[in-house]
Amino acid sequence: MSERVHDPIARLAVLLSRLPGVGEKTAQRLAFHILESPKEYARELSQALLALEHDVRLCSRCCNLTAQEPCALCRDPLRDGRLLCVVETVPDLLAIERTREFRGRYHVLHGALSPLDGVGPDRLKIKELLARLSHDGARTESDAAGASSEKIEEIILATDPTVEGEATALYLSRLLKPLGLRITRIAQGLPMGGDLEYADQVTLARAMSGRREL
Ligand SMILES: [Zn+2]
Repeated sequence: MSERVHDPIARLAVLLSRLPGVGEKTAQRLAFHILESPKEYARELSQALLALEHDVRLCSRCCNLTAQEPCALCRDPLRDGRLLCVVETVPDLLAIERTREFRGRYHVLHGALSPLDGVGPDRLKIKELLARLSHDGARTESDAAGASSEKIEEIILATDPTVEGEATALYLSRLLKPLGLRITRIAQGLPMGGDLEYADQVTLARAMSGRREL
């Protein structure tokens, strides 16, 4: 910690104030709340935080965050292994899951192309995507670990409707076209510049079902 805070309550408040949307006052209130809660609560909270560091990793197949290898989505035999939805982030994946309209699998890029910020293709999980597509049909490490087999036929590019998201979709469509798969892009209707994560479920479900071929 850069700030040398020795008082445990102040220390916790400083750490909490780094969370998005949490100001100094709220952080202090939360710290006192935790202090006044039953002891088990603070213990469980600290264990949950430690578990983030120790247990959460990227699924070797889809790059989703998971405590299990492969992740529950890759493991689920009821998911349609022909459909692969490519998203920027795990919260985007969760937003599409909430619509309950999509029963295929995912691939998480962990970002979008942004040359101005120095984010090129090598910074995204594109290598992993290509490896996954080339392993298609063959048994891989993740199959051995219990992932359900897949035979991908369509790739749905569900990056955000932002400049970076569109550039990423265009880049991927050109990269993947030679593989002879159906490549689609989620429909417009999502507000330009928006984030999938915050789209309402009806709009997002409509964007998924109205996807167009690239
Ligand atoms: Zn997975």
